[in-house]
Amino acid sequence: MKRASPVELSDLNRLIEGSLSRYSALRETDPLLYELIAEQTRAEATTLKMIPSENFASYAVLEASGSILTNKYAEGYPFARYYEGNEIVDQVEQLAIDRAKALFGAEHANVQPYSGSPANQAVYRALLRPGVKFMGMPVPEGGHLTHGWKVNFSGTDYYQIPYGPDPQTGWLDYDQIRDLARKERPQMIWVGATAYPRILDYEKFAEIAREVDAYLVGDIAHINGLIVAGVHPDPVPYCDVVTSTSHKLLRGPRAGFILCRIEDRLKSLYHPDEPLNLAKRIDRAVFPGLQGGPHLQTIAAMAVAFHEASTEEFRDYARQVVRNCRRLADRLLERGYKLSSGGTDNHLLLMDFRDSPYSGKYVARALAQAGIICNFNMVPGDPRRPMVTSGIRLGTPAVTSMGMKEPEMDLIAGWIDRVCRHLDDPTPVAQQVRQEVAELCLQFPPPGIKPRQ
Ligand SMILES: *Cc1c(COP(=O)(O)O)cnc(C)c1O
Repeated sequence: MKRASPVELSDLNRLIEGSLSRYSALRETDPLLYELIAEQTRAEATTLKMIPSENFASYAVLEASGSILTNKYAEGYPFARYYEGNEIVDQVEQLAIDRAKALFGAEHANVQPYSGSPANQAVYRALLRPGVKFMGMPVPEGGHLTHGWKVNFSGTDYYQIPYGPDPQTGWLDYDQIRDLARKERPQMIWVGATAYPRILDYEKFAEIAREVDAYLVGDIAHINGLIVAGVHPDPVPYCDVVTSTSHKLLRGPRAGFILCRIEDRLKSLYHPDEPLNLAKRIDRAVFPGLQGGPHLQTIAAMAVAFHEASTEEFRDYARQVVRNCRRLADRLLERGYKLSSGGTDNHLLLMDFRDSPYSGKYVARALAQAGIICNFNMVPGDPRRPMVTSGIRLGTPAVTSMGMKEPEMDLIAGWIDRVCRHLDDPTPVAQQVRQEVAELCLQFPPPGIKPRQ
């Protein structure tokens, strides 16, 4: 690899300082906070952000989310508000809704959820009465907190029937899921994950849900961008409701949205006396059910992200995310590492350290010292506790946003290997790798930091 000269280092510093120039007011008013943002910017530009749920939002997204739209109150929905003076922001929200519907081919969209978790909370409120059974994946098996984890509202207020990947293979077994659904008769089934490296077969889930009269809810928080690009199957034709974040792969602001059908397929069974259709019930669950005024600055940024995601450039990006992840997986497998499910179809992989004396937490810490930022994660069949784990989760969305491709994945796999071969005393090697990581990052300034072309 080409070694960076001091001149190039100062070039990156110039870029970073340049990207910080837009915080000139903050710098003056609150230097302490300014310095923290500056520090985080420097860290993000000189390390490898490999947490699969993280990414880089564009300048345009950052500008919209930092705009004066933060000043406006607009409780209600476009053209039906509880406040005056919303003629302009009505258009902002309507634009976000129209773009969400077009991008995902959905009948209805709600763009007001403050984040992915509140979006999921609204779905429970719209579909289920408290205490009823639903199926979801527990956190240790790759599900999200809001899919029924015991300390989350979804686990205390509703009754989770857990399902998950086979502990031996790491793959979902659809026959087992069907048998469980037939036995338990849940009213809702979640399909979606935070840590499952394989394609989800929505068609199979839909067959199961129809057979047992359950709502099927897709949670595409992680893989939203892959779906937009057609590199992961599309849940919209198969699910009653689909929820998502607008950050993560989609590179938008930190927020959530909900897509759904207008009519309720199971109305006569579960909501016979309900006058509202499914779309209206989802809207009502978000506002006034759970939230007050929508965050219009975030909704505006979401509209920008939907616009950016509708381009061929974005589709190329998402395809490259998957190619990069496969390449990283192949290089790690070649070196003898075990991956949960044996590889990946999407943007993330799980390294499996069940046979190692070192825990996932320990490995993640060592890699962070080397400038490779990832998270420790349970793997299917994990004997260790959730705060320790036997796995680490690595993802390629952010490094791909920096412009990295297969040759850089080869370097990263080599660095991971070097650190993992010195786990008895990782610091010296981690410090060397840290330097090489910083040098690679010099050549790939991320969106939001590199100058706009
Ligand atoms: C990230 C995530 C969420 C929630 O997102 P937040 O914005 O962090 O609340 C929900 N579901 C899944 C599957 C996720 O990965």
